[in-house]
Amino acid sequence: MTKPRDRDFAFEERLYQDYALKSRTRLIILLSALLYALFIILDAVHAPKELFHLFLYIRLGVLAAHLFLFLLLGRMTTNRAYAQIVIAVGFFDVLGIAVMIYFLGGFVSAYVQGLSIIIMGSVIALPLSFRDSSLVFSVIWASYVIPSLLNLPSGKTSWRNVITNLFFLTSLLIIGSMGSYFMDKLRRRELRGRIQLEETTAELQESNVKLKSLDELKTQFFANVNHELRTPLTLVLAPLKAILEGKMGRLTPSLKDAMETMQRNGYKLLKLINNLLDLNKLEEGKMRLKLKSVDIVEFIPPLLASVKPLADQKQIHLYYQHPPNSVDLTLDPDQFEKVVFNLLSNALKFTNKGGKITIYIEERDNTVTMTVEDTGIGIPTNMLEAIFDRFSQVDGSKSRAQEGTGIGLALAREIVLVHKGAIRAESELGRGSRFIVEMRKGEEHFDDEVLDRRTEDLPIGLRRRLTDTEEPRVQDIVTDFRRLQLVDLEKVDIEGGQVDEAKIHDALILCIDDNPEVLKLMKMLLSDEFDLELTTSGEKGLAFLRKKNPDLVLCDVMMPGMDGHAFSRAVKGDEALKHIPIILVTARTGAEMLAEGIEAGADDYISKPFDSTELKARIRALLRMRQMESELALVNRNLRMRTSDLVDQQKSLFLSTVKSLASAIDAKDEYTRHHSTRVTEFSLKIAAKMGFSEKELGDLELAALLHDVGKIAVPESILNKPGKLTDAEFKLIKEHSTRGESILSPVIELKEISRVVRAHHERYDGAGYPDKLKGREIPLGARIMAIADTYDSITSERPYRKASSHRYAVKEIIGCSGAQFDPEVVQNFLEIAGTFVHDQEKDQGQEEAAKEE
Ligand code: ADP
Repeated sequence: MTKPRDRDFAFEERLYQDYALKSRTRLIILLSALLYALFIILDAVHAPKELFHLFLYIRLGVLAAHLFLFLLLGRMTTNRAYAQIVIAVGFFDVLGIAVMIYFLGGFVSAYVQGLSIIIMGSVIALPLSFRDSSLVFSVIWASYVIPSLLNLPSGKTSWRNVITNLFFLTSLLIIGSMGSYFMDKLRRRELRGRIQLEETTAELQESNVKLKSLDELKTQFFANVNHELRTPLTLVLAPLKAILEGKMGRLTPSLKDAMETMQRNGYKLLKLINNLLDLNKLEEGKMRLKLKSVDIVEFIPPLLASVKPLADQKQIHLYYQHPPNSVDLTLDPDQFEKVVFNLLSNALKFTNKGGKITIYIEERDNTVTMTVEDTGIGIPTNMLEAIFDRFSQVDGSKSRAQEGTGIGLALAREIVLVHKGAIRAESELGRGSRFIVEMRKGEEHFDDEVLDRRTEDLPIGLRRRLTDTEEPRVQDIVTDFRRLQLVDLEKVDIEGGQVDEAKIHDALILCIDDNPEVLKLMKMLLSDEFDLELTTSGEKGLAFLRKKNPDLVLCDVMMPGMDGHAFSRAVKGDEALKHIPIILVTARTGAEMLAEGIEAGADDYISKPFDSTELKARIRALLRMRQMESELALVNRNLRMRTSDLVDQQKSLFLSTVKSLASAIDAKDEYTRHHSTRVTEFSLKIAAKMGFSEKELGDLELAALLHDVGKIAVPESILNKPGKLTDAEFKLIKEHSTRGESILSPVIELKEISRVVRAHHERYDGAGYPDKLKGREIPLGARIMAIADTYDSITSERPYRKASSHRYAVKEIIGCSGAQFDPEVVQNFLEIAGTFVHDQEKDQGQEEAAKEE
């Protein structure tokens, strides 16, 4: 990159480049010197006699400076230096005049006009930059003012004069400066624009060169394709033809079938390469026409005849309308045949069963029109032009219904154009299309350079050699050249699409591909190892999947209607089908494609052309994985069932242990027999009223059953003591809640329960034990149990007192609401307390009955 300063310098240089500054400077020096010398005459006429000599010397001095600068100019090379020399010339001129003005008494002198001349000269003579002209103008201003001021004391000049002249002079200089400023700006802007233009032009030239070399590369590439693809393909097709003709021994039907598939697909490839090469030749202007005069009316029927079998297959009617007389046209029959075939094969492709295709030939004065009309699907209006472009298709999607590459019409148009004809399409969507080819009669219109005159001009020997070396002759391998034109329209049946009822192999694979030939190939490759079901669309595949349960699906990605990705999504979104592994088969590769497939749920991917060993290996791997998965799922299910059984067993075991523990405690204390069970019952009733969940009720049940578990550590003698307890005994009994907690806390599941057990003697007002918890600090379970416990103690007999009535117990509990008990729980208790009476009585009844027995 150039440094900014260098760039500025270069810019400045270029700014004056167009002005030929050097010669102009030379001219300026000469002119200035000439004028300076001529003004000696003025000195003689105008100046006082005594000053004449002085003025003469001044002028000679200035002239000498001119001479010096003139010589210096010769040595200079840059525009900047030339401009500086011009400025120096101006300086000397101004200086000389200034001195003379001084001697003549300042502004009064007529010599001031000399300075005006220099001002004008400096604006006109050179395109000085604003900076330079400002400098020159300042010096001129000074050379007016200084001599005048110096003359003021001598009285030769007056203030009035100085001021008046200064006004005029300054105005003149301001106008001059403005002029030079705007001119300078304009010049710079113009130069900047020019430089930009030059840069763009340079870039364009560069990309032009690149394009040219790319174009050469493309041509080279096509030449290579010609050789590198066509030759090996010919070498594949030629022996195949011989094999199929039985020249290499008898063929079994399946081998013949396989060979025919190979041949057909080889032809397809050959056609594609031929079309591409033709198109390239045409676009490069290298196509040569072998013109012949042809009766177009007779030309069409054989072509129609060769598409007839295909039309019959699709039940499409072919019609031909032509003038009664012969219609002669000059054209290259081989090339024009391609045009007709392309139009016919498109019409066949895009017309549905039962449709109609008509060819019309019409003759006008100087033109002949051929129209191929069909009753097919039609073309949208906005595509009528575009379909003639290379690779353009109305439906370019991967799920399009028809095969094709989009070069047929491009080729047809190029061939028609090289014949100086015209081609266009008309259509009504859904009703049909019409392709109109207009050809000119006679042969004057052909460009001379497109005509192939070799056949006439070359000696026979050379002619043969040329055709030999040119390109492998398609005719050598394709006996029926027309077959090649229509090869992609041929429909292949897949026999044996249904799987044999008898199951031969372990795994059933569903193969889906819209191309029957690919299905045939899959059958050939896989049937020795797997049972197969072949089908031509995703929809049919899905229906089969619902009926039978194949072990794996091999599915093409690009298919009309439901494509491979949509199929995978449908299968993987269906609970009943999602376990079936899918391998997608695709001709396209690339990360994006892969990602789309995986997203759709495909289990694996294989790209065409596939290798049978790899395909089989992948199928086997997926099948094995699938089998392992289902085995694993089974084991898992069994395991889960057994685990949950175990958990249930453990739970009930635990509960019964807990219950027997509770009854052991109850048994210890004859007065509190069944106490824990009753407290549990009461607590659960209150809790249920308060909206406890299942789980919470379960926890509370355990807590209530076990709330007195700590009493195990209290001797029976104390528990059953009829008299008043001593302080020590009471203390020991009070410890049962903390002991209960320490018995339960080692069991993780009982952590929460043990907290409740510890707190079941806490009081709402904080006066309870062991932690003196208050209000909501006490676990809710414990607050509930406190009430249930009290109720049961009051209503049952104790060593130290008789049992009291239900009403008494309720009264007591109400009395202690807010002190011993949580008022909210008391409220809930009261709402259901009625049900306790019944239970209590029932219990007591049972007990009494037992006692009687
Ligand atoms: P290809 O048939 O190989 O795709 P063509 O260049 O022959 O390529 O045709 C380009 C496209 O023009 C086709 O893909 C199709 O969309 C449209 N087209 C051509 N002929 C017809 C027709 N007779 N009816 C409807 N559409 C047509």
